[in-house]
Amino acid sequence: MAEPSAAEQRWLQAAQAFARRALPAREGPGGAAPAPVDAVLRCLRAAGGGDLPLGYSFTSVSDLLHQQSTPCCSHLTWSTNEFKEWARQGQGALPMQSSLPRAYLILVGYLTDGRQEEKEKLVDGCLYVKDNTGIIPCEILHFELEWLESLFLFPSWAYVPQTDQGAKGYVEILVDPVPVNALPKKVLDTIPVIYPAAAEPLLASRIPCKKRSKLSVAGELAKLSPLLCIHHKTFFFLFLKCFVSAVGVPVLVQKPNQLAWHHVFQLGHRYIITGLSMSSLKKSGQRVFVTGVSSCLLPYCAKQVKEQPLDSAWQGKSPQSAFPEASVQFSDSSELGVEQERPGSTKESKIISYVGTVTKILNAQAGLFELDNKVCLCLAYQQLLNSAHGLRPGACVKLIDVHLLQKPLVSFRFIVLGACLNSTVVLKSFSRLSTFYQPTVSSGNLYLQLLFRYNLGMPLYLWLVSLLETFEERFSCFFGHRRLLHSSVHQDRGAAEKFLVPLLQGMVSGREETRDIYNEMLAKRHQCPLQQYWTLDPPCQAPSLSKLCCMAKQKSWDDFCPSRLLSPSEVQHMGTQELNRSLAWSYCMFSAGSFQPRVVLLGVLRVSSRSSSLHLQDKSSTLPCVISHKDGSPFANTALIGSLLQVEAYQLVVERFLQSDFPSWKQLANVEHVREKKNSVYVQFYFEDALVLQAPEVQIQEGPRSRNSSSLRKKDDGGSASELEIPEAKVLKLDDPKPDIERNESCQRDQSSTGKNSCVSRLFLVTQKEGLMLRNYQLLGEGNGEGQELQRSFQATVLWLGRPQFWSRPRKTVNLPELEETNCHGEEGMTQQEALLLFMGKSLRWFPFLHLDGLYRFIVPHCSDLEVFDKLCFPPVPARFLSRSCCPICLPVPDTWHLQHETWISCLTERQLAAGSVLTGMEQRISSIPEVLSNRFTGSLVSFPGEIVERTLCASPKNEKPSMSLSLLQQKGSLLATDHSVKLSVSVAPSSPVVLDVYIAATYLQHLWGLLPGAKVLFQNLERKISRFHNVYCTYIASSCISIMSLPASRLPLLSSPAGEASSSSLVFLSNLQLHLQNMPQARILCHLSCVLTLSVQWVCSLCNSIFKEGKCTRHNPPCPSHIGVRQASARVLVEDGTGEALVLCRNQHVAAVLGLSLLEWEAVQNCVQSRGSVSIQHGEATGTGCVEEPEDLLACYLRSLCRSPLICRPILLDFSLDRKPSKIPQPAPLQLRNFRCGEAEFVSQVQPRPSLLCLNVEEVEQKALCCLNSERIRRTSSHC
Ligand SMILES: [Zn+2]
Ligand SMILES: [Zn+2]
Repeated sequence: MAEPSAAEQRWLQAAQAFARRALPAREGPGGAAPAPVDAVLRCLRAAGGGDLPLGYSFTSVSDLLHQQSTPCCSHLTWSTNEFKEWARQGQGALPMQSSLPRAYLILVGYLTDGRQEEKEKLVDGCLYVKDNTGIIPCEILHFELEWLESLFLFPSWAYVPQTDQGAKGYVEILVDPVPVNALPKKVLDTIPVIYPAAAEPLLASRIPCKKRSKLSVAGELAKLSPLLCIHHKTFFFLFLKCFVSAVGVPVLVQKPNQLAWHHVFQLGHRYIITGLSMSSLKKSGQRVFVTGVSSCLLPYCAKQVKEQPLDSAWQGKSPQSAFPEASVQFSDSSELGVEQERPGSTKESKIISYVGTVTKILNAQAGLFELDNKVCLCLAYQQLLNSAHGLRPGACVKLIDVHLLQKPLVSFRFIVLGACLNSTVVLKSFSRLSTFYQPTVSSGNLYLQLLFRYNLGMPLYLWLVSLLETFEERFSCFFGHRRLLHSSVHQDRGAAEKFLVPLLQGMVSGREETRDIYNEMLAKRHQCPLQQYWTLDPPCQAPSLSKLCCMAKQKSWDDFCPSRLLSPSEVQHMGTQELNRSLAWSYCMFSAGSFQPRVVLLGVLRVSSRSSSLHLQDKSSTLPCVISHKDGSPFANTALIGSLLQVEAYQLVVERFLQSDFPSWKQLANVEHVREKKNSVYVQFYFEDALVLQAPEVQIQEGPRSRNSSSLRKKDDGGSASELEIPEAKVLKLDDPKPDIERNESCQRDQSSTGKNSCVSRLFLVTQKEGLMLRNYQLLGEGNGEGQELQRSFQATVLWLGRPQFWSRPRKTVNLPELEETNCHGEEGMTQQEALLLFMGKSLRWFPFLHLDGLYRFIVPHCSDLEVFDKLCFPPVPARFLSRSCCPICLPVPDTWHLQHETWISCLTERQLAAGSVLTGMEQRISSIPEVLSNRFTGSLVSFPGEIVERTLCASPKNEKPSMSLSLLQQKGSLLATDHSVKLSVSVAPSSPVVLDVYIAATYLQHLWGLLPGAKVLFQNLERKISRFHNVYCTYIASSCISIMSLPASRLPLLSSPAGEASSSSLVFLSNLQLHLQNMPQARILCHLSCVLTLSVQWVCSLCNSIFKEGKCTRHNPPCPSHIGVRQASARVLVEDGTGEALVLCRNQHVAAVLGLSLLEWEAVQNCVQSRGSVSIQHGEATGTGCVEEPEDLLACYLRSLCRSPLICRPILLDFSLDRKPSKIPQPAPLQLRNFRCGEAEFVSQVQPRPSLLCLNVEEVEQKALCCLNSERIRRTSSHC
């Protein structure tokens, strides 16, 4: 042999070093084996035709695991061309995927079937390659039992790491390994065997088999079950059948050292299994052959067996055929046509065999793989114990007896091949592509657990997978994958399980049958969950928030129909501006059931300091939310921040903002006039309807430990909100990155001595809260000159209750020690002091939580300075003043302080109230709407609760133009035009007549969340004003604040039509109108129409309201381009009902009714007016009302005579409301003197002033009805008297 070259020497040295590290000499069966390195080198030389593979280097198992982060393959003896050809062939199914890169590595190691852990060999059915440095799972297509524990050179292999970095991979052994040392040859004696035909009757016979000697059965492998693990016991079944017939017997393999057999078995091959006994399965009683400890698996060799004679008693009649003739027909994907679909009906799945290439891993945990780009393979029913090794894109699989399911789920695009326990899935060839693998973890796998626990059929399982996939995608960034999908048998369920289990229970209830796996594998008539299926229409969905918003927006505009927003009788008389304005703002409300399928809302509750509002959040988006309590108390639960909520009863509101230029109502159907559409979506729900799926991470610990520990300590259930720890503790835990040295000096100094969790807390009562506003404050600490910018802020006046408390750790208090304490010591004067809290910057996040009359606690984390509250006040107050409650102090709330809601003042016990004596009588600052409306009301700032009856958009009064700073605020939030304001008509209760109008400039409304008809709202600090018509109204000013107390009743919003409906009430009298109108918004009288005072019918320009004549606007300076006129009519009539008189203003269609004209006649009258623009008629007392009579013409003549005709004076039923505009609410005004004439005599009498009414409806009264009504009137009058 020639002297080795220098390169070869270096290589040999490396080989020696490798062998010392990875392959130390082992104790062989016959004493110490020769040093492995020599054998390995010999083996390498043999493989390389005498040469050493100098271009390759040795790799140890540990190097592979730790240094190889991408897939690679190594082929020791291949030429480049061979490799290229191999790689090219592997790209068939996925031409875009690159093939495995070639590495020049030599892998040498022992093949073994278990991991050594603490002197115990753990056998899980996997094979491994190990050396002295480590152990790595391997997957092999052909395996011999003699290979176990022998040293091998692997000439061709691939290493496949997991997708995520750092996770360990496995080795695919592409070519049979070469033994480094010759394997011992086994010399076999002749074995007496029986064949399945003879063995089968043995199973059928019920003869006790205790004394019977163990049997050896020889047969052809007909079926092989997957490895299963039930109750920590791993096993598998196989079937050996006769060589000549279909008779077969089942064999249960269950000894740990026999699990490696699973890798040996190949369908159609012949084997002998020795040492079998018979046993019946506990549950089902089926009888099977069972391997014993000494059982062996041997390849069948005809020369080495002789048939064992059996007792004649055991020989039964010829057995039934258990298996169909094993002529497997393989389908390919082109044959999987889609069948005719019959949704809802139960379908029978076909059992087929199939060969295909994995093209995608759809969801490894769920056991879903895509084959040939068009079929979904589901392995979940097989438990997937081998971690899906080998099942990566590019691998070829052979499926035998799998179920073919067409469209098990409406939304699922694949045909599904479901493998049950009766199916055999064989890896036919490894992938040659550079694809990662995603391991299927079987323990703690929620997909598989739920599948087995609820014995789900394929449709439900696929639905579960889609829900869980979305769930994981949406929320694992918040809570971490493990915390969310954490699954457990007991009550400590993870969020995903809490969400899914009730849904699944609802779906499977009534047909709860447990899966009988033995029956599934062994029964002659196959039974499994995949046999029957139906196309599932999912009962609900939980889409991402961004998708939900899109769906809601889409739906809201799909439903949008301009003409339906407006009442058809009114729209005809609207000018352009009014028309478009009334279309500009509308909303629609959806519930879970508005979507198909029903939408379950999931989101993490967050509060934004930027918008100072609550949000639900997932990975995709955020959705603003409004939360109320069913008892009307505001939502203040700061403990809920950061928790994952599930809500099924909610109102998803889409506010629609439309910019349009419809010239008139006739064009409403023409969408071209829509200029711009915008929307804002938010959701509102009751706290009581929300379910906490996942509590926020507990970061403030109860004990001193685990500040650094990542262990997630949770209370036993963590389900209900009351059990939550203090949330948002992130803020508390993470120190302020730049602590304000000056302010925190004392706190920091104390920290070392008191421990890091210590904090100071102080209780307070909110006595006033003001809205969010740009205010002229500077954030402390930003001391430099540019602080001129206005700061968004809000402020609240609070009353400190008791002294600050020192806590060694944050906690949730049960009672309020402060109130108890004051009681004991009786030192109220000392401890109750008013302060103005100023919230800016990050502390703005407390805005949605802080409410009037709430008792809250500030928690100052990492602090032990009890004077911290006083020290931070500004301007700095000399200590001697601090004790005086008269001195108002202003306290800017630092970002790091935590707010904790304790209770409401109304919930305090009497003892507690007595303790804080100042608290009593606190609640009286809130007025009622009648109080606000009353003349006797004094004071200009008012707070009152009320229900929104109607909301309208109106043009802002000119004198209330918003200031510049406000319009700045506007740009960020509201979608309403700045020059608009919102009018909210608010009443005490929905049917109450007493309505108070509240005007809010659009600029103040950063968002309109919750301001919907039907919502109950607490208005605070509005300015009370009186109009020129003596009506009381309120405006929203800088110090005002709104909070939503309860949500509108959950029905779809009706078109607001206050008129028309409802008025089926009983009749009232004009004389006691005042009495009635306090209880009813509208009323009905039976009256006599005395006369028509004025009548005006006109066409006005839709743009400028000038008279519109002969198709043109009459405005000339500047000329008006309008071509559209709007018909308008009004009449003022006098009615009396025997108890009094009233003026009634009628508009538009009511004019026709009052005049007794039919629709056709009215149409004709209006058309006649078109040519001359307008007609006005005056009569009697109406002089001086501003109407000028037109010169006589035919039309005027007709109308005048109509008005004066005695026919018009008739009884009518009139629905009306008070006309609040031109007159005033009837009030005890001075009586008027009026003349009456009766024949010759003239009287002067005092009479009440005539009330002004607004006509809502006119009905003719038939004679018969009149009699009835009159008699009722008389009856009621007498009862009144
Ligand atoms: Zn099946
Ligand atoms: Zn005009």
